[in-house]
Amino acid sequence: MSSNLIISGSTCGFTHSCLSLCLCTDMSTKVAVVTGSNKGIGLAIVRALCKQFDGDVYITARDVGRGEAAVKTLNSEGLKPKFHQLDINDVNSIKTAAAYFKGKYDGVDILINNAGIAFKAADTTPFGDQAEVTLRTNFFATRDMSTHFLPLVKAGGRVVNVSSMLSASGLKQCSPELQQRFHSEDITEDELVALMQRFVDEAKKGEHKQGGWPDMSYAVSKIGVTVLSMIHARRVSKERPKDGILINACCPGWVRTEIAAPGAPKSPDEGAITPVYLALLAPGATEPHGKRGTAAQSSLLLSPSSSASLLW
Ligand code: NDP
Repeated sequence: MSSNLIISGSTCGFTHSCLSLCLCTDMSTKVAVVTGSNKGIGLAIVRALCKQFDGDVYITARDVGRGEAAVKTLNSEGLKPKFHQLDINDVNSIKTAAAYFKGKYDGVDILINNAGIAFKAADTTPFGDQAEVTLRTNFFATRDMSTHFLPLVKAGGRVVNVSSMLSASGLKQCSPELQQRFHSEDITEDELVALMQRFVDEAKKGEHKQGGWPDMSYAVSKIGVTVLSMIHARRVSKERPKDGILINACCPGWVRTEIAAPGAPKSPDEGAITPVYLALLAPGATEPHGKRGTAAQSSLLLSPSSSASLLW
């Protein structure tokens, strides 16, 4: 026998006899999800959201042990984050997490795509392999997250993609043709994906410079993240104009984490300020929302920190 249970005015979509699962759902509780949040900037984002966001905040990590250790760290500070496994390189892990948030919360209110990797400057891995591995996580997996989670973002939701100012400097080193495409408002997600794949293919053949690309895989991956954010912002404005969803990419600044050098000027908590600012844009706000422009057109996202979170 199956049944539907009404909770907080919402119909539980599960058809099962497990009452306890239904009672665990809370469609009225807001929820924030942060990828790659077992350490670094992601953990600092969760810390800040636990203090400032009125809802459940999820640490997610590809490794359950590292994720649970991070929960304990914040518990020791008196904070109560929740945890769900999420490896953005594993589409099944993404789908499982998406189904969980859909079932328990009927979607997500805040999504912060923070997970990312970077090779150390001294790493001797061939450039083509670095390009493939870097783009796989930073661009293609972040895009997979968006594919499965953007449909879950609720009205009034906020999406923040953690990019990098290196996307701006990398863009300046691209050929005029590539720059034109990345700046254009008619670039599609399919075209962007094809361009990112072209970079990887050309890098593996040692032909990326002739192809008009800079010699920096990380920067190219973050160009992809920034442009993807703009594409998604335009799409959500078109397809869900009344839902007030805001999508932005930002740079956290140069932050002392495993990715960056120990001499970086910002602490992880300082690096979290801009992503958290964008995640907590007030209800009814209409911008920033996937903006770009020249410096004179104020392409800087202004945040409470004086640091620039440069989209372009
Ligand atoms: P860290 O290396 O400290 O943290 C990266 C996080 O991403 C870790 O939790 C890591 O998990 C996670 N991660 C990596 N791959 C995956 C995956 N496949 N699935 C899920 N999680 C994954 O670096 P930061 O905190 O500095 O980086 C956070 C973001 O900020 C990145 O996107 C980075 O590019 C960006 N950024 C950082 C800057 C800096 O100066 N630090 C500057 C500009 C941008 P695990 O522990 O399992 O490896």
